[in-house]
Amino acid sequence: MSVILCDFDGTIVPEDVTDALLERFALPEWQILEQDWRAGRIGSRACMAGQVELLRVTTEELNRYLDSVEMDPAFPAFVAHVLDLGWKLVVVSDGIDYAIHRILRRYGLGHIPVLANHLECLAGGRYRLTFPHANQDCKTASGTCKCGIARREEMAGPVQILVGDGTSDFCVATAVQVVLAKDRLLHHCRMQGLPHLPFTDFDTCLAILASPAFAIWRTRAGLSHSPF
Ligand SMILES: [Mg+2]
Ligand SMILES: [Zn+2]
Repeated sequence: MSVILCDFDGTIVPEDVTDALLERFALPEWQILEQDWRAGRIGSRACMAGQVELLRVTTEELNRYLDSVEMDPAFPAFVAHVLDLGWKLVVVSDGIDYAIHRILRRYGLGHIPVLANHLECLAGGRYRLTFPHANQDCKTASGTCKCGIARREEMAGPVQILVGDGTSDFCVATAVQVVLAKDRLLHHCRMQGLPHLPFTDFDTCLAILASPAFAIWRTRAGLSHSPF
């Protein structure tokens, strides 16, 4: 079965939900860790573990924010199209599983598998982040190693496609046949010469999957080249 690996923050939802939570609810020191990560001094795993410990918010407040987050309006139609093709769609994210599950459920998409960092709620409005999909062998030091996920047996298929926008997608961009890319990931694919197509939103992604060129390519799935 072919697989679409889909990023969440900046892709399914326009904003970065982790950053938005920190801006609203974390002690100000979270920005020091952010600077360390941006400067390359720490990986996103260490960065987010420290940042999530700085959250001070009740689950009610947290939920109230999450319930205001808007999804790309075309994403549900994109999911339906992918499932019609008989393909699998998996959300792979270096963000927070609790947030992703809650937002997907509100749009009736709670059935989509989500592989992301795990949020534990502690007493007193505090939280801890754990990393069930980390990978010591990946040089990105992210919380969720997307290239490790793509190599798993249950993710194997004639075609693997990545949809994403950011640095958390870099490691897996070399592991799939085609990348649908925007923003920093688009720049990365251009610089690295990776097979990719630019997209702006899920209307574009849907048009790409419904295009005749894609249908031809799909029937030849397994070939190393793509028509794009
Ligand atoms: Mg992203
Ligand atoms: Zn990786």
